[in-house]
Amino acid sequence: MHPLSRRKAMQTVGLAALAPALGAVAAPHAMAAVPVPGALPRGVAWHNWSGCSGGQAASLQTPADVAAVQQLLRSSSGPVRCVGAGHSFSALVPTEGSIVSLDRLAGLIGHDKVAATATFHAGTRLAQLSRQLDQVGLALRNLPDIDAQSFAGAISTATHGTGANLPALHDDVQSLQWVRPNGELLECSKTRQADMFAALKVSLGSLGILTQATSTVLPAYNLKRKVWLKPVEELLQMTPELARQHRHFEFYYLPFTGYAAAITHDLHAGSDVLRPDSADEEMLRDLRHLRDWLGRFPDLRRWVAQKLIDPAQTELAQDRSWKLLSTQRPTKFNESECHVPRELGVDCVREVIRTLELRNDVFFPMEFRFVKGDDAWLSPFYQQDSCSIAVHAAAGEAYDYLVSDIAPVFRKFNGRPHWGKLHGHTAADLPALYPRWKDFLQVRAELDPTGRMLNPHLRSLFGIPARA
Ligand SMILES: Cc1cc2nc3c(=O)[nH]c(=O)nc-3n(C[C@H](O)[C@H](O)[C@H](O)COP(=O)(O)OP(=O)(O)OC[C@H]3O[C@@H](n4cnc5c(N)ncnc54)[C@H](O)[C@@H]3O)c2cc1C
Repeated sequence: MHPLSRRKAMQTVGLAALAPALGAVAAPHAMAAVPVPGALPRGVAWHNWSGCSGGQAASLQTPADVAAVQQLLRSSSGPVRCVGAGHSFSALVPTEGSIVSLDRLAGLIGHDKVAATATFHAGTRLAQLSRQLDQVGLALRNLPDIDAQSFAGAISTATHGTGANLPALHDDVQSLQWVRPNGELLECSKTRQADMFAALKVSLGSLGILTQATSTVLPAYNLKRKVWLKPVEELLQMTPELARQHRHFEFYYLPFTGYAAAITHDLHAGSDVLRPDSADEEMLRDLRHLRDWLGRFPDLRRWVAQKLIDPAQTELAQDRSWKLLSTQRPTKFNESECHVPRELGVDCVREVIRTLELRNDVFFPMEFRFVKGDDAWLSPFYQQDSCSIAVHAAAGEAYDYLVSDIAPVFRKFNGRPHWGKLHGHTAADLPALYPRWKDFLQVRAELDPTGRMLNPHLRSLFGIPARA
């Protein structure tokens, strides 16, 4: 290990790229489905992106068209779980039955500039979708901070970006085509089977297999990004106003520094591109080194960090929306995220920071974002404008505290968990947080009476006993 250099720490801790500071994306196929030699010749071992969830499935199915998806569900009766890019942290995918990937059902199908809609296969990765939309002069309204996810996987867990007036991805979906667990091909939209549509948009892969989506899109647009550092308490005072002023506002708190990196993105009329080199990985490495060397001396750690940080530095970038909003995350991590009512966000994040800093081993930046409310029954943003607070631990390090220590804080502030991230909520807590919870369970029971689309994680969330 080389000593923490002042120059490098200033260059990194002091730089913008903190937004992009978390984790790693993804080869196009983050899912690792590897044939298991030996006892189970047809089995496949599977694990998610971070490696915290996995298991052995009987088979991996990769249907090439919708008819094959129907056939797959018609010709079998065993458990089935869909996988997108395997970027969820919670145990949504593992099954003893078949894992189904729609990687072969990917790509833009068509678009309508007058209606401002695009239709695409549900297995399309967000990165591919953004590129294909760009080629025809269109773009998604918002994006999460990586774009490795499949569209179906992303909406199934209510994946979101940031923006006080911008909802999660699923809220822009106008219609969905899906194959229900018995193999029947169905479609629903805001006007056709509206209740089913509200249940299906965020359904954790429990209602069938999504095959196609039509979503609202915008004419392709450029953004400008600004990143700057501020003492966290000063930034918290300004947070509601910054969220009102900017199309996208978020910040990352840097544990044991007292500083946060604020990030705004706003529409940019010009087409000039400005892309400074990213120093994300160096920043993470330096925060980790600071923890490794001074972790037992939190006051000294904070003092050193504050000496190294140069709050005068800002970073500016300009580019296509999708190139700035989503980034690469080479350093893997585990994560928990909760969405709290908007007005409680700042108080909640203060308590999360206090709780995190009771542990000297924490070094990963913590993220704070804004998401507009929507109407999907299992959306954590259901009828609630929210603030999203995410805590991370580097892969390979302890991460149980993300739930054991932080979940009680999220609960205190009525947080609803991100379905794709680690959380401690159970069948006992969820009905009180989701007004349409029972309605969703009823739809699920009607569509899938034998529970073949469930796995142990979902059975436990939905309060459904394990299979005999
Ligand atoms: C580095 C990193 C950064 C992230 N950043 C963000 C972020 O900025 N914002 C955010 O909200 N989340 C973020 N996430 C979480 C991630 O967006 C969600 O967990 C998302 O669900 C992952 O999509 P996926 O395609 O990998 O789906 P998977 O994790 O493979 O599956 C997710 C769910 O979708 C279901 N599913 C997949 N395909 C289908 C289908 N065709 N039909 C029916 N169900 C299906 C699965 O069964 C499962 O229940 C991040 C995760 C990582 C690892």
